[in-house]
Amino acid sequence: MQSYSYGVARWTQVSHAIRLEEMAKPNHILIVGGGTAGWMAANLMAQRWLQQGINISLVESPDIGIIGVGEGSTPQLKAFMDKIGADESDWMPRCNATYKVGISFHNWSTKPGFDSYFHPFPAQPDRENYRAFVHHCYLRRQGFDIDAHPNRYFLPAYLASNQLGPHPNHNFPFEVLYGYHFDSQLLGEYLRDLAVNRGVTHIQGNVNKVLQDEQGNITAVQLQDDDLLQADFFVDSTGFRSLLLQQTLKVPFVSFDSNLFNDSAVVMPTPQGNEYNSQTISTAMKCGWAWEIPLTNRVGNGYVYSSAFCSADDAENELRQKTGSLDSDIEARHLQMNVGQVDKHWHRNCIAVGLSQGFIEPLEATALHIVQETVETFIASFEEGGYTAQNRERFNEILTRRFEGVRDYIVCHYRANSRNDTDYWRANAANENLSISLKNLLRTWLDKGDLTQEIQRQDISRYYNTISWHCLLAGYGLFPDHTTLTAVGEDKKIYDLSKIDEFIRRCALNFEKHSTQLSFSVGESMRASPGS
Ligand SMILES: Cc1cc2nc3c(=O)[nH]c(=O)nc-3n(C[C@H](O)[C@H](O)[C@H](O)COP(=O)(O)OP(=O)(O)OC[C@H]3O[C@@H](n4cnc5c(N)ncnc54)[C@H](O)[C@@H]3O)c2cc1C
Repeated sequence: MQSYSYGVARWTQVSHAIRLEEMAKPNHILIVGGGTAGWMAANLMAQRWLQQGINISLVESPDIGIIGVGEGSTPQLKAFMDKIGADESDWMPRCNATYKVGISFHNWSTKPGFDSYFHPFPAQPDRENYRAFVHHCYLRRQGFDIDAHPNRYFLPAYLASNQLGPHPNHNFPFEVLYGYHFDSQLLGEYLRDLAVNRGVTHIQGNVNKVLQDEQGNITAVQLQDDDLLQADFFVDSTGFRSLLLQQTLKVPFVSFDSNLFNDSAVVMPTPQGNEYNSQTISTAMKCGWAWEIPLTNRVGNGYVYSSAFCSADDAENELRQKTGSLDSDIEARHLQMNVGQVDKHWHRNCIAVGLSQGFIEPLEATALHIVQETVETFIASFEEGGYTAQNRERFNEILTRRFEGVRDYIVCHYRANSRNDTDYWRANAANENLSISLKNLLRTWLDKGDLTQEIQRQDISRYYNTISWHCLLAGYGLFPDHTTLTAVGEDKKIYDLSKIDEFIRRCALNFEKHSTQLSFSVGESMRASPGS
C-alpha cells in the first residue's frame, strides 16, 4: 500500500479553529473517496484552485471498490467535460460512451395510446413546438379532442426512435443538448488520470479513523498503517458509507422512503447489437422499473425495485426474463440503495459529495448532475463568503432544495402511474406522502390551471422545467376525466400538427445515424470493463 503524510506540522487544536473562521479559501483540501464523485470534485477544484497554490489530494481505499453503477447522465455531464477540457474524441472511446438525447418510458401508464412516451433533452429547433405542445396540453385538459402526446412535438424523440445521433451537419446551426451513457468504472479512471496529470495528489490507503479538534472540526484522517493525512478542509466522497459527514460528524440522514419505495437494484450486462440507441429505455416492471443503457461494447441493464414488495431472487428472475438471459451464465450484481439526503451537505469543515450526501434513485440519472452542482456551488460560495456560518447555511439550503426538487419529479412518476397489476403499483398510486409543492402541481394540472405559472410561482423550474412536467403528465395520459372529448372549434387557436411532423422530419435529415457519430469510439479502442 502506498501512502503519504503531508509533512505539515499538526496545528494545535486552538489554532486550527481560529484559522478555519478566518479562512478565505482552504489551503489544503483532502477528498476522501475515489469514485466518480471524488474524481469529479478533484477535477473541478483542481481547475479552479491548484493555480492559486491550494493543495488538493485524494485518498481512496485500494480494498473497498467503487459502486460501479451509474451509466447515464443529463446534459450537465457535457458541460462538466467541456469545463475540465475533456474532449469527446478522447474520453468517449476510453469509456465506451454513447450519446443520449433523452429517456423513453415504457409501460408506466395503462391509458390507451399512452403505453410509452419520451422525455427529451432540450433542442433549439423545438422552441416553437414547445409552445404548441403546452397549448395543446391545455386544450386537452379542458376536454378538447387534440393530440397532446409529447412524442410528436420534439426533435429528440424523432432522433431517438430513428437511432440518430445528436450532432447536426455543419449546415444546420441549431443545437440539440445531449448527455451520455458510459462505463462508470472507466469514467472514474479517466477522471483520475486527468486530475493526477493536473497536479492532484493521489493516495491509496484505508481510512480507519477520523480525527477532530475540540470544536468538532476534522483535523486529519488516519490510515490503516497509522499515517496521518492532515488538511484544513475535507470532502466526504466515501459513497453510501459517508465516513466523514454521517459517521464522524453525525449529520443525520433524512430518508425519502415514505414516498420513494425503491431501495434495491440488480444489474447485469447483455451483448450490444448492431444499432446503438441514443436514448435510455426505462421500462416499468412488477415492483419497480428496469433501465436499458447502450454502451459501445455492451448494454447495461438494471432493475430498481422495492424489497418490501419483491425478493432479490424474484427481481433477478424478472430482469433475466426481460433481457432474454434466463439460461445464460451472465452474472447479476445485487445492490442496496439509501434513498434520501443528509440533513446538512456542509457541516463544519467538511462537505459531502456523491452518494455520501444522498441519492434519489436513478430514474432520471441525476446523481452526477448534482455532484457537479454541489462542487460548483461550494467553490462559488467559498470564494464569495469564506468559512462563515451564513455561507454554509445558504449552501445547505440550495442543496436541500435541489434534492427535494428532483425528488418531487421522480415521486410524480410513481404517484401518477395507472397500473393496477401489483400491490407495489397500487401502493404507489395511493401514496399521499407528497410534498406541498407536488400536491399543488398535480392539483393545478387536474384542475385545468396554468401549470407553467404554477412552476414559476414555486420557483422550481431550475430543477425540472415546464416542458419536463408537461411531458411526464401528458405522457402518462393523465388528463381530467371527460367521457367524451369536444371537437376544437374555429374560435380556438391550434397548431397544425402535420406541419410540426414535417418540420421535425426535415430537421432530422441533418442528423446521421448514432453509430456513425460514434465511429471514433467503436472498434479497436473499445476497452474491457468489469461489467463487460
Ligand atoms: C442502482 C444505481 C444506479 C445508478 N444509476 C445512475 C445513473 O444512471 N446516473 C447517475 O448519474 N448516477 C447513477 N447512480 C449513482 C452513481 O452510481 C453515483 O452517484 C456515482 O457512481 C458516484 O458514487 P460515489 O463516488 O459517491 O461513491 P462510490 O463509487 O461508492 O465511491 C466511494 C469511494 O470511497 C472509497 N472509500 C470508502 N470507504 C473508504 C475508507 N474507509 N477509506 C478510503 N476510501 C474509502 C472507496 O474506495 C471508493 O473509492 C446510480 C446508483 C445506483 C445505486
